[in-house]
Amino acid sequence: MILKYKFRRNRKIVTNRTGAVADKKGLFLDRDGIINVDNGYVHREEDFFCYPEIFPICKKFLDKGYTIVVVTNQSGIQRGYFTEEDFENITKHMLGIFERNGIHIQRENIYHCPYLDATQPCRKPNPGMILESASQLGINVAKSVIIGDSNRDIEAGVAAGVGTRVKIGVEGCSDATHHFVSMGDLLSGVNAGALRIR
Ligand SMILES: [Mg+2]
Repeated sequence: MILKYKFRRNRKIVTNRTGAVADKKGLFLDRDGIINVDNGYVHREEDFFCYPEIFPICKKFLDKGYTIVVVTNQSGIQRGYFTEEDFENITKHMLGIFERNGIHIQRENIYHCPYLDATQPCRKPNPGMILESASQLGINVAKSVIIGDSNRDIEAGVAAGVGTRVKIGVEGCSDATHHFVSMGDLLSGVNAGALRIR
């Protein structure tokens, strides 16, 4: 994946493969622990429980013009716990739940890394999924937000140059720009302006 750069008024502007300026704002979401409860290698519908707060949070970002992208490590595939087809099925199930809650996300906006090997560019904390999706979807990472419950998510955000990095969970992360203990706390923070969506 090759990113092209244009220089304009001393600002580095990322362009996508067609050369168009990538200027969309992205909301990069980790999946397990952010969209759904992380019970470990979730791949069956009966184990997929969404956090209800994810829907109003996504709605607020959509209203501000953000493009939602899911970037999820799924090493359970390489570990042999489930298959690409299982992932495809659970992804369709997830997108259906979003749809029923008034949030339309395209299948192309779901990026997953099936590998266990830490040297794979797509595996967070590496920035591959963020950079590739930004390039393909015309997203300016500096103007974007990543939300994750693992330090790996935040580190991937730093490596990709994502401007706003939101850590969810009891423990904070020094590289995060914002920290909330739970998805409920994040929704309260969004409503109260502790996380401003610009
Ligand atoms: Mg997670």
